[in-house]
Amino acid sequence: MRQATVLPLFGVFSALLPLCGCSGTASSALSGTPAVVTPAPVAPEPRTPPVKEPPARVTTRKANTQGMVFVTEYHNFGYEKGNMFRTPEKFAKDLKRLYDLGFRPVTASEYLNDKMDLPPGASPVIMTFDDSQPTQFKLLADGSLDPKCAMGVWEKFAKAHPDFPMKGTFFVLPRMWDQPKLRAKKVAMIKEWGSELANHTVHHPALRTKNDETVMSEVAGGIELLRKYGIHEPAMFAMPYGSTPKNRALIKQFKYKGQVFKTAGAFLAGANPAPPPGKVNRYKVPRILAQPGNLGLDFWLDRVEQGKVSLYVAP
Ligand SMILES: [Zn+2]
Repeated sequence: MRQATVLPLFGVFSALLPLCGCSGTASSALSGTPAVVTPAPVAPEPRTPPVKEPPARVTTRKANTQGMVFVTEYHNFGYEKGNMFRTPEKFAKDLKRLYDLGFRPVTASEYLNDKMDLPPGASPVIMTFDDSQPTQFKLLADGSLDPKCAMGVWEKFAKAHPDFPMKGTFFVLPRMWDQPKLRAKKVAMIKEWGSELANHTVHHPALRTKNDETVMSEVAGGIELLRKYGIHEPAMFAMPYGSTPKNRALIKQFKYKGQVFKTAGAFLAGANPAPPPGKVNRYKVPRILAQPGNLGLDFWLDRVEQGKVSLYVAP
């Protein structure tokens, strides 16, 4: 008798299965009926390739690979007066404002080599940090980033906005943020973030005022410092004060004390957006100082908001 009741039900259940398209268990499908029926074997998931969602468009701006590129220039962080300082709070605001305006970070190398990995509708920003000020990058005793240093501020922002990762270019001096025992660890962190180290000379002279011998010794010294940290390819270079040597050929390449020293690109110190990859003179790249006032970062971001800058926009 029991068998006789179950069999027709099983037939109904089997017939329902393709209709409901679910993998419900026998007991739920036959609610109220004793679960004497062997559950149907669960069909393996169909092997369809995972559908890759196209990345969401960051802005409604039209693609424009001939537009201008923002290369920001930061020095020191803190509460002192003067255009060399940005407060940590203001830096956090800069990140948010850049983000909201559709900027996404790439390194100086990615920009000049036209290898910018940007989501559609985004505009590149190259975040550059000069002079290796300790306020840029400080580790606490437990190895974590000081939340008040620039990288601490950026880390917090990047955690909340993973599509604005800590990718920037550090134009370093030999002090390399002090904390000498932590230097190797910091360099490893920079590489892990996808950021890059770049040259800013040894003693930070205005190169225009120096003879060829001094220019070569300063540029070569900076390159040798980078080599110590595993950078053997030609690196980017920011000329102190944006001051170009009289002998401009030395920016690209020279032979000094039996060795060849090459530079991949040279950056100025102000005061406007840079031309797009392919159009920019890679040995004369303008930057935008992170300062209030005329031609500073705030000024240029206002211009973007007002629609007065034709920005590079990723297709
Ligand atoms: Zn400098």
